[in-house]
Amino acid sequence: MTETLLDASKEFLVRYGGDVFPALFTSAKGTIVKDSNGRDYLDFTSGQMCATIGHNHPAIVEAVHRAGEKAFHFFSGMIPEVVAELAQTLARDWLPGDIKRSIFINTGSEATEVALRMAKMYTDGYEILALGGSWHGITGGASSVSMASDRKGYGVPAPGVFVIPEPNAYRPYIQGATEEEAALANLDLALKMFDMQSAGRGAAIIVEPVISAGGVLVPPKSFMQALRKAADDRGMLLIFDEAQTAFGRIGTKTGSEYFDVVPDIMTMSKTLGGGLPIAAVATTAKIEDDIHSKKFAFYTSHVSDPLAAEVGLAVLDVIQKEKLVARSKEMGGYLRSRFEEMQQRYEEIGDVRGLGLLLGVELVTDRASRKPAHALGALTTQKCLENGLSMNIRRRPERGSVWRIAPPLTVSTGEIDQAVDILEKALRESRDELAAAKAA
Ligand code: PMP
Repeated sequence: MTETLLDASKEFLVRYGGDVFPALFTSAKGTIVKDSNGRDYLDFTSGQMCATIGHNHPAIVEAVHRAGEKAFHFFSGMIPEVVAELAQTLARDWLPGDIKRSIFINTGSEATEVALRMAKMYTDGYEILALGGSWHGITGGASSVSMASDRKGYGVPAPGVFVIPEPNAYRPYIQGATEEEAALANLDLALKMFDMQSAGRGAAIIVEPVISAGGVLVPPKSFMQALRKAADDRGMLLIFDEAQTAFGRIGTKTGSEYFDVVPDIMTMSKTLGGGLPIAAVATTAKIEDDIHSKKFAFYTSHVSDPLAAEVGLAVLDVIQKEKLVARSKEMGGYLRSRFEEMQQRYEEIGDVRGLGLLLGVELVTDRASRKPAHALGALTTQKCLENGLSMNIRRRPERGSVWRIAPPLTVSTGEIDQAVDILEKALRESRDELAAAKAA
């Protein structure tokens, strides 16, 4: 019907947002993804921040095969052995404090829905505090508590959502204060406003340990501790959305470990499946017993699917065997040092931030004004792609132009060097081209 599959993709697919690449894609291995023209790209976004152990790791391929030999799917009331094993492994090796009971679903958005339903049922409340710049998913409840997504045009969001200004050391809402003072003052004000507006039905505070889509913002540790206290003071639960931060991405086991704060509910998704759709939500026995007694339900077609669990177990096993948590810290330190070195030479690199292998590089027209360099960001990203490096840029008028850089934790020093060289060349050429166009 159409000449090529690229034409077919334009004719028959719904466009779902985000930047679309000019070719179709065919295969992926380790840090490399390949398009239908046979071109290789270094994937410095780990797909959609998921492929932490590298694309198509043999252990994942084997896990899928194993599930094929045993079972992909059961009636949701039949708990597969492998699901029990995954829940036990999470509780034993990964979950903080007394968080120990998990449910397994498929996506991060779904995980947020689970967490919100748990918190609402446990507290008998419905009010949720979320951070500016947050992204917790695209489904109804999740998008209601997400501020970095496109909220317009989809009808009425869930009521009872309140926003805490996000800590942003580079673009603080409050001037003339330290990073920590500004973050805590914002929180204090937000809580005062919340207490004034609240109908007394607080359910939860939800937060990403690193506010990723909002520009890779790392809150001060005291801010997270203050969130813990704010939730406790109001009888609300604290939810950590660890879609991106769990299982080594930031150089610790979890965001909870980094901040030394134990939430009541933790959501995990992208980094659990290494590229396949599995998500988990975990909470304490106390909370789970309570909501179970109130008939908590999150019954879906693919809850507790054995295929996904087989893959999740394999991913966790590889992370431990290949010591990828430590490796993320080490390689993240190296990548960051390369960016910091570049920052010495490029006025346009305003800020380098992040943790482990989740890094943000913010582009500005100049250091004094800190004006977001949107055109430079877009052109450089395009040139990176032309030269074989896939990167993700977040462009928001109010929040700057920020590269979100997150290669697989298995990335090699050679791949990092290659990527940084491509990036530097692209940045230099883009800067010169834009300057020439301006002068002309
Ligand atoms: N939470 C966070 C922190 C995320 O980054 C994302 C995805 N960008 C989600 C939730 C939603 O996950 P999914 O896209 O798998 O629904």
